[in-house]
Amino acid sequence: AVSRLPLIAGNWKMNLDHLQAVAFVQKLHWTLKDAKHEEDSVEVAVFPPFTDIRTVQTLLDADKIAFALGGQDLSTKDSGAYTGEISGAFLKQLDCRYVIIGHSERREYHAETDEVVAAKVEAALRHGLAPVICVGETAEDLEKHGAAAVPVAQLEVALDGVASDADVVVAYEPVWAIGSGQAATPQQAQDVCAKLREVVAAKLGAEAAERTRILYGGSVKSGNIAGFMREPDVDGALVGGASLVTDEFAAIIRYQK
Ligand code: PEP
Repeated sequence: AVSRLPLIAGNWKMNLDHLQAVAFVQKLHWTLKDAKHEEDSVEVAVFPPFTDIRTVQTLLDADKIAFALGGQDLSTKDSGAYTGEISGAFLKQLDCRYVIIGHSERREYHAETDEVVAAKVEAALRHGLAPVICVGETAEDLEKHGAAAVPVAQLEVALDGVASDADVVVAYEPVWAIGSGQAATPQQAQDVCAKLREVVAAKLGAEAAERTRILYGGSVKSGNIAGFMREPDVDGALVGGASLVTDEFAAIIRYQK
């Protein structure tokens, strides 16, 4: 992880309306400033609901706040008669750098298959967005196949046809650890993240594997982040619940201190 810039990403899910978003981002910014957080030691990204993105973008721009912005999903299509869908082009226009793809909640509640995920990865890259590709096993998968088999298979499909110089981020999120309070151990996260790096190497080449950031996600908190970040193949965290609590998220960002 030494040569890769750590990424701490906050997935707000369906929380915080555009007014709450402004208050939250300002408070987070000032909390980090008060703690004299060095902006270039770790990249911070927030993933608000679509309806907040314009407001948050304006705030980041006006106050010169160095958080990266991302969408929580995007359409496989670029434009047209797709009611309710959001194009990657729209996200890019609002300065989004990232887009989360294949979160387990999308896979479960919106029946997103590995093929849909792969099409969304392609759409993101087509619009200059870095996909944050989420993979992970359910408790049942874990029992039947062990930890790595399902995330490895999911990532293989997601990276099909992706160019070797593409900017992608991988997030290993065991489904049983998401929102459960029961995080994986740092060793469990390391074991799977190392295997996912091998997939990146096989699909995109050694250089891409060396540069691609692989995050752990699932009940990350200020109390356990440092353990994950000590692992050589864990380059950051995708954080759900704790990303909505200013002091917690700020402490996660400042995990080295
Ligand atoms: C997530 O949903 O991406 C996540 C990691 O959630 P939590 O941190 O709440 O487990």
